[in-house]
Amino acid sequence: MDENQAAPKAGKPGVKAGKLTAIKGMNDILPPDSARWEWLEARVRALMARYAYRNIRTPVVETTPLFVRGLGEVTDIVEKEMYSFEDRLNGEALTLRPENTAGVVRAVAEHSMLYEGGKRLYYMGPMFRHERPQRGRYRQFHQIGAEALGFAGPDVDAEIILLADALWKELGLKDVRLEINSLGQPEERKLHRAELIAHFEKHASVLDEDGKRRLHSNPLRILDTKNPAMREVVESAPRLIDFLGETSLAHFSGLKANLEANGLAYTVNPRLVRGMDYYNLSVFEFITESLGSQGTICAGGRYDYLIEQIGGKAAPAVGWALGVERVLELVKEQGADIPALVPDVYAIIPDAVAVPVALRTLQALRAAGVSAQMHAATAEGMGSMKSQFKKADASGARFALIFGADELAQGMCMVKSLRDGSGEQRTQPLASVDTWAPTLQSNRSTGIIHG
Ligand code: ATP
Ligand code: MG
Repeated sequence: MDENQAAPKAGKPGVKAGKLTAIKGMNDILPPDSARWEWLEARVRALMARYAYRNIRTPVVETTPLFVRGLGEVTDIVEKEMYSFEDRLNGEALTLRPENTAGVVRAVAEHSMLYEGGKRLYYMGPMFRHERPQRGRYRQFHQIGAEALGFAGPDVDAEIILLADALWKELGLKDVRLEINSLGQPEERKLHRAELIAHFEKHASVLDEDGKRRLHSNPLRILDTKNPAMREVVESAPRLIDFLGETSLAHFSGLKANLEANGLAYTVNPRLVRGMDYYNLSVFEFITESLGSQGTICAGGRYDYLIEQIGGKAAPAVGWALGVERVLELVKEQGADIPALVPDVYAIIPDAVAVPVALRTLQALRAAGVSAQMHAATAEGMGSMKSQFKKADASGARFALIFGADELAQGMCMVKSLRDGSGEQRTQPLASVDTWAPTLQSNRSTGIIHG
């Protein structure tokens, strides 16, 4: 038997006591919670359109060398977090994308998208990293990202940061702060690197395992440690910013001036580095104190060398990615109220003979923009009026539409208000749904999704 078709066995991943379950760290997103996701996505789409960023959709699976080459071998992601596998059918080395900048850059290069000038792009979708699942950290998680390719900045650096900030405002988020830094250029980092290694060698005893391993391969990444025992040695380390030349400093000043001109507050964090090797010059994170230790909701920076590294024609670029789960948790805590999705009408059908008329009427209502839910039969039949009204109530619909025999005989149906306490009812002609459909339409925000 093919192993994919084997009977589920207890103890296998995704199988509990003979039941198939989702993989650890990979979540189902169910209604009504999925309405939050749709709400966020709709807001992002509208915002991206206002900033003239266009949607790009790249595959969830890419070749493994794309990420190894793009992200850098000595990074958390490549060292230990990637879902990599060999395609059984052709032996190709593949990886579930752990992030999407590499994929976007691959697509941009492959399709020569910068031929006629810069491109502003955005994406949304699942990413995969084999991490220890905890609050705000999952194995399948979702990112929304913006990438501006073909622009040297710092004007576009400011634009893309302002775009993220506009999103926080749109979502009603309050305490999100911005940290920025400059990673300079590779030659400047070389000078800093030598001093950094010397510093960490002097304090080798306080370095943890990761720190020791990175000491000679990627010492800059030690600055990104989350180990509190290493805080002091990181704080006292030589600062990269002190090694930047005039051009890099001018770029950084340009970014700061653009942010200031827009009244966007920031702090310069000289220890801010990013998890991928591809960054240079501007880097930034948006951080909140409201989510415990996973407080970075959005991170990004400039990656002027990635495109050529992946095999495209050299071009500067800048981008960010936000963690949807973390942002949504913050929305839940302090964001705008999200309208609950409820139908405008619930169709009550006392007798099954009325089903064809009800179906037809609901079709006409929906075509006219009304959201309509039909009471569905069970093996026992339509159920009592009382049980149907209970269901109508539970659906959250503002109106019940009753397809009773007496009204139908006159070519009518009954509309009853369920929400305003008036119990007001009126009959409406089945032949001219269009004329009364607008009176049933609400803005679908009669309820709010709570916590
Ligand atoms: P962290 O330092 O938290 O591990 P990172 O530097 O690995 O984050 P990036 O690769 O920069 O994160 O991804 C951008 C954003 O995506 C993060 O700021 C975070 O909001 C989100 N994110 C990253 N990894 C996860 C994950 N495993 N689960 C949920 N969200 C994540
Ligand atoms: Mg990480």
